[in-house]
Amino acid sequence: MEFDSDSLLRQVAEENQKRIDDLRCPVHGEAPRIEFLSSAGSIAETNLHTCCEVLTAMVHERLGVEKDTTS
Ligand SMILES: [Zn+2]
Repeated sequence: MEFDSDSLLRQVAEENQKRIDDLRCPVHGEAPRIEFLSSAGSIAETNLHTCCEVLTAMVHERLGVEKDTTS
């Protein structure tokens, strides 16, 4: 039986989208968007779309993404 990683990743993307649905950029008032990418024969992936780095940082904080500490 083949494991359907495609739909699993889609589920994760939808869950994450719900978790950040109420976030708005304080600068532009834009909402973040998670896009699910899938093409036949290749690995599916998700893309985060934001208007700027401020919103990206807010999304990462909400989702608990590790920050890059290199400076
Ligand atoms: Zn912004």
